[in-house]
Formats: sequence, C-alpha cells, structure tokens
Amino acid sequence: GSTWEHVQQAPPDPIIGVNDSYRADTDPRKLNLGVGAYRTEEGKPYVLRAVREAEAALAADPAANKEYLPIAGLPEFNRLSRELALGPSHPAIRDGRVATVQALSGTGALRVGAEFLAQHLPPGQPRVVYLPNPTWGNHKTIFGRAGMQVREYRYFDAKTRGLDFAGMCADLSAAPPGAVLLLHACAHNPTGVDPSPEQWRQLLALTQERKLLPFFDSAYQGFASGDLDADAASVRLFASAPGPQEMVLAQSFAKNMGLYGERAGALSVVCKSKEVAGRVESQLKLVIRPMYSNPPMHGAAIAARVMADPRLNALWKEELAGMAHRIKAMRQALYGQLVARQLPGDWSFVLKQIGMFSYTGLSKAQCEVLTRKWHIHLTMDGRISMAGLSAASCPYLAEAIADVVT
Ligand code: PLP
Repeated sequence: GSTWEHVQQAPPDPIIGVNDSYRADTDPRKLNLGVGAYRTEEGKPYVLRAVREAEAALAADPAANKEYLPIAGLPEFNRLSRELALGPSHPAIRDGRVATVQALSGTGALRVGAEFLAQHLPPGQPRVVYLPNPTWGNHKTIFGRAGMQVREYRYFDAKTRGLDFAGMCADLSAAPPGAVLLLHACAHNPTGVDPSPEQWRQLLALTQERKLLPFFDSAYQGFASGDLDADAASVRLFASAPGPQEMVLAQSFAKNMGLYGERAGALSVVCKSKEVAGRVESQLKLVIRPMYSNPPMHGAAIAARVMADPRLNALWKEELAGMAHRIKAMRQALYGQLVARQLPGDWSFVLKQIGMFSYTGLSKAQCEVLTRKWHIHLTMDGRISMAGLSAASCPYLAEAIADVVT
C-alpha cells in the first residue's frame, strides 16, 4: 500500500476554484468575477507600462546579476516599501524604528509576521489574533498554521451592507490585552466596507486603551481611491500615534503594481526604538532562512525601480489612478443597470463599497444559479470582482442578478 493511502482529499480553495470552473466553462457568455485580479475593458490581464519599462531597464543593465539576495531581501525595495506606506519623512523611519523584510507578496508577509508573533509575543501573553468577520479566506489558515489562536470580531452588517461598528468595538473591548488585531488598511476584502476617518480614530483609541497590537494588511494601497497617500491614511494614523504605537504591516504589490505572480511584498514591524528594531529584524531573518532562505529578486527589483525613478513613479501613479477609475466606472455602470431594472431593495451599496469587490448579499443558492444558468463565476459568498466587469458585460450581469433576486 501507499505511504499516503490514508491521506484525505483536501477541499479546493474557494477562490482559486472559481478560476478552474471558469476555465472549464465553454459558454461564450461566461464571466469570471471570482479572483481579485484587474482586467482591462477587454477582459485581459494588464501589465503596467511602468512595470514593462522597469523590466526593460533591468534587462539592459550590464551590472545586473542573478546572485542571491540577502535573507531580508533587496534593501532598496524594503526602504521604498515602508516609505510608501508611512510616508518618506515619517519619524519612525527617520529614527530607524521600522524593521522591514521583503516577503513573498502579501501572503508571505502575513505568514512571516504571524510566525514571528507566535514565537515572540511576550511570554505568558495569549497568542490570539482577532480577524474581521468576514475576512479574506486565507487569513484564518495563515494565522492558524503559524500557531496563533484565531478569533473573530463583528465587522459586516448584513442589514445595512455596511460596517457593524458597535459590534466591532464591543468585540474588541472584550479582547485580552496583548491580542493581535488584524485590520485591512483599506478596501476591505471581501466586503468593500471600510471604517470612516472618525471611526479609525476611535479604533486607534480602543487599540491603545485595550493594549491591542495592530497588524495592518495593506493589499490595496492606491487601488481603492487611485491615490497612494489617501489609501495609507489608516496606517499612517496608527503609526503616528504617541507611545509610540507599535504595529505590524504586511504590504503587497500584487494589485497596485499588477505584480501578482512576481510575489513582491514586504513585512514591516514598527518598534519603540532602533535598538529593538534591530533585534526584531534579526529574528525575522531567522523565520525566513529555514523556510526559503531568501526571497526572489525580479519582482522586488521592478517595484524598487518603479518607486525610485521619478518618471516611472509618475507613470505608475497615473496607471494606478486609471485602474481605480475604471473600477469606479464599473460600479456606476452596474448600479445604473440594476436601478433601471427596478429590483427590490437598496442597491446603493454597489456605489458605496470601496475597492475591487462588491459584496452583494446574494445567497449561496443565488450564486449557484448565477454560475450554472448564467455562466457567471464568483465565490459563493456573493462577492463579485468589479475588476472583471466591462461596459459590455454589465447589462448581462444585471440581467442575471435580476433573474436570481426576483
Ligand atoms: N490580503 C488581502 C486582504 C488580499 O485580498 C490579498 C489578495 O487577494 C492578500 C492579502 C495577498 O495577496 P498576495 O499574496 O497576492 O499579495
């Protein structure tokens, strides 16, 4: 018999599985609204011009080589990444209080961060992380596998399709001191619902009062509003709080630079002193070294070049604003189509929600009809990727939604 005879079939990943069902669908009307990847109006993947130009420059550089990166990754990339999040002249950066390591995109940053926390939270303190309900499906597994105990806080209010702020505050007020609080920096996935600036201030106060450790997941900086600084407001608010506030930050360049498969990301730990940051960095390296030794070079080199070169940087910001604008235009178009069909209920959430996704509130049964009958592929929680829509496909989606809700 096989050594692995007893091994059970693992369930398919709920998000990646949507791609498989889309690929297998032969209907010409088929639509992929599952995975969170930007598509052009023509439904094609988009490589940013800034990225293409950075790649061309890298390929032409005679000094470039394929040596290993340091364990912590490309130093220039790490510096520019934390500056992108906190702002270049942030006191924490100036004081050398931020330990940054390159990571395998946002997922890798979360995982290395979770491992570090599981190992190095103060002795005797609970290894607990609070995740929003709902959250990106991978969060639970990432923190769970790293050895953290996972708990949820209320986040989405199904009635208003908005934030359950009172529920959120009540749950966080009951968290034990030292618990880790995972926050989506902007464009919450899957709901598209973010706290208001005033609510962020209250959350900061609650965090400090309850002595929680904020862990920001920043997977959509610039992608939500089209403006890199505006989308970093929550992270900067917390990082600038007196104390100084300590925190952890996972960054991804998958969406905002379109570097999905290049796996470019960063993990930063904001500490109270430069001396502590140095020790923290040494332990982050000890998490990385036995896992994959050092990170891949290409994506980080591209991102560093795009951020460092003023012309490429300006081009990137322009393209980023263009992507965010197209998604907002899709919200308008879909909303218009839904309203025109005089569907029951209030659909203004399509306009109010932020970022790549709309969280429709459609039931699993309704989603199944969308896929089976209408060849619209989406996750069964009713989340649709607005980036997968086009002016041409909006009426079709609205017609399908009308069919399942009436
Ligand atoms: N965090 C959130 C909230 C996400 O939505 C995603 C991707 O969808 C990620 C992290 C990580 O993505 P990646 O590992 O591709 O950077």
